Amino acid sequence: MPLSWVRMTAMRLYRDPEVPGRLDFDRGFYRRIAEAVDGRRRVHDHIVPIRSGYAWPVKAGSVVRIVAVEGPQVCDLNLWHRDNPRERFWAARTRQLQGAHVTTFDRLWSCLPYLRPMVTITNDTLSTEPTANGGRCHDLLGSRCDPYLYKLLDDRDYDVTCHANLSRAIAPYHLNELDVHDVLNVFQVTGLDPVHEIYFMEPSPAIKGDFFEFFAEIDLLCAISTCPSGDLSEWGWGPEGADPVANCRPLGVEVYELEGEMLKGWTPPEPVRVKSVYQTSG
Ligand SMILES: [Zn+2]
Repeated sequence: MPLSWVRMTAMRLYRDPEVPGRLDFDRGFYRRIAEAVDGRRRVHDHIVPIRSGYAWPVKAGSVVRIVAVEGPQVCDLNLWHRDNPRERFWAARTRQLQGAHVTTFDRLWSCLPYLRPMVTITNDTLSTEPTANGGRCHDLLGSRCDPYLYKLLDDRDYDVTCHANLSRAIAPYHLNELDVHDVLNVFQVTGLDPVHEIYFMEPSPAIKGDFFEFFAEIDLLCAISTCPSGDLSEWGWGPEGADPVANCRPLGVEVYELEGEMLKGWTPPEPVRVKSVYQTSG
């Protein structure tokens, strides 16, 4: 839609991609990181089996890749500051600052009272074009599947969920299900139906070898769940719903350290500082 329409009838409240203002940053820095794959060294890799969770620490200044190693599979991503898990990914503010779906050069922001980019997305092999239904990939509209919702909607006891996978994955880091938060659904296509604005999902378009890559702006603990609904080509809800285990695939996690020269000029972002929120200025 033409920008003039937006200007006349609605406001882009927080970020106008064409007038980025104080949210602007050096895209060339991240482009160079994405392109200079020879200038990186793999320091960690792991295959996350189907229907499971995995958590791993990442040093600031490193690059993380989540890889569809066998084909389509959606995954739920959580992020915390490695040394302070109260600072964690804030999906709602990221939606406002970036968009309801994210791709290269979008940033994932932390919650209050911090509000800084935790990661910047450096590469994304999935299409950014909307589907015929208006769906887009890498979803910030929804959240994770969880056993409470299955119980509520279906009166079913089902402990194979992303919420449970993430909770188990972070237990070795002394975190628990209260630390699990709204996710980024990587490789997941979603949208809102135009009549009721009800959330819909479409099968993941990822193919073997597709990846989603980001640069860690601060020290992180990352966790993903390989969603028990697999590639979302079938939905296992309700009495007739078949268990979609055949549509589940593992995902790869890779971490790379960059040559010092690549990081020249970069420093981890600082949290936003304000005067106390507990006192009025009057
Ligand atoms: Zn799930």
